[in-house]
Amino acid sequence: TDPMQQRPTRIVVDLGALAGNLDAIRAHVEVPVMAILKANAYGHGLVPVARHLQAHGVAQIGVAFVEEGIALRRAGIDVPVLVLGGILGRQAQQLIAHDLEITVSSLDKLRQVEEAAQALGRKAVIHLKIDTGMERIGVHSYSCGPLIEAAAASRWCVLKGVYSHLACADDPDSPMTALQVERFQEACAHFTRIGAPMPIRHLANSGGVLHAPETWLDMVRPGILLYGVLPDPAARASVPVRPALSLLSQVVYFKVVRAGHPVSYGATWAPAQDTRVVTIPIGYGDGWPRALSNNGEVLVRGQRRPIVGRICMDQFMVDLGPDGTAYNGDDVVLIGTQDGQAIRIEDVAQRAGTIAYEILTRLNERIPREYV
Ligand code: PLP
Repeated sequence: TDPMQQRPTRIVVDLGALAGNLDAIRAHVEVPVMAILKANAYGHGLVPVARHLQAHGVAQIGVAFVEEGIALRRAGIDVPVLVLGGILGRQAQQLIAHDLEITVSSLDKLRQVEEAAQALGRKAVIHLKIDTGMERIGVHSYSCGPLIEAAAASRWCVLKGVYSHLACADDPDSPMTALQVERFQEACAHFTRIGAPMPIRHLANSGGVLHAPETWLDMVRPGILLYGVLPDPAARASVPVRPALSLLSQVVYFKVVRAGHPVSYGATWAPAQDTRVVTIPIGYGDGWPRALSNNGEVLVRGQRRPIVGRICMDQFMVDLGPDGTAYNGDDVVLIGTQDGQAIRIEDVAQRAGTIAYEILTRLNERIPREYV
């Protein structure tokens, strides 16, 4: 009954699918899972997803930014949360105060975190980030010794984890993964050499979970797979997951467009004969890619129908053909299934010239989310 939630365009998240995917991944890898919930849980809604996974016994949550972690704490989520992204020294106190685990990737950062912990009189929980081939954040595996020694000896840091990120794990044939595993194992061997206890080692993203058992180690960090989407559309689905997100709308306008009368901005499309066209109230201002102009498809009355003309900020048009029917209020599926037909996120991404991750994370706050 909230008028802000009545928009005909909505995202429906199937929480049962999400929990089922977590179970399927756990059964496959047989180690605990750190669920990656950054970017609004890949568009699925940070807090509701976290609540459901917490109730389902997820071991750990990973987010990108401090603010995402604070949002979880404010919502009462008490699962351990690791902030994966690089931080600035001034953020260290916030992280510790909100009981968020910190990624440490250099001696400088370690010192900043120690100072913040000392100032608060409260130990920081940290994970060391080793760079094994991504060149994003992380101490290089070939020079990580001093950081490992300092972290293991730290009075103000609890060294809970050590991790790295795979650059090419979505491609089972890439030689990069084996190289990264080897570099990571060499870095971890340092703990044994100095007689320090081995922290939790985690390396696998979704690609690693699907294709590379040698990356599973002590914990895995799937993102996209948890939402039932494959990291690469060509990937082999070795884990039985199903998509949790549907994107739905409704027809808000129906008309006949005469032969030769162009549709939408730039007049890029016109029918060869009189045809029936409907208008759908969602556009690039919601994160629905403009690259689908004259390119995408939606489901109306169980039929695949083409998007015609350019996608506008808040609306776009669909051609039903000369004999097609639809009424105002008819359901339209942009992502999901209808009468046995399916539009997969991976297919939308391919048509839009991007990856499923970008399609999901760009679906913005203007679209209400419903949980079933
Ligand atoms: N771990 C880290 C450090 C990440 O940055 C990401 C996302 O990019 C993931 C895990 C999850 O990746 P994916 O969604 O491919 O499983």
